[in-house]
Amino acid sequence: MMDKRKHRNYLDSQLFFSCTSCHCHLLDQTSIMSRNFQGRNGPAYLVNKVINITVGTREERMLLTGIHTVADIICTQCHVKIGWKYLRALEEPQKYKEGKYIVEKSRVSKEFSWD
Ligand SMILES: [Zn+2]
Repeated sequence: MMDKRKHRNYLDSQLFFSCTSCHCHLLDQTSIMSRNFQGRNGPAYLVNKVINITVGTREERMLLTGIHTVADIICTQCHVKIGWKYLRALEEPQKYKEGKYIVEKSRVSKEFSWD
């Protein structure tokens, strides 16, 4: 069956973050592991779960903390780039980031749900 609701997936949470462009639900506040990361365009969150995204092509990228294999993540609904996913970190101290996501703070807005 087709989902007739406006957004593909919904977070069952009272405090979450949605895409700034299309308001698609992206992540639950409790998924945020760190608020002190650096994205491409400024401050970013390190997050362990993001929904309604498409993972792009994997590539090697030189980041502040060394070389990582990453893939951009794109909002499934409006195709805006919201950050990237860490696929592989070369250096041992960075390994905890594998499988996690960087979400640019400028791409998401905090929302409250009262129902
Ligand atoms: Zn969007």
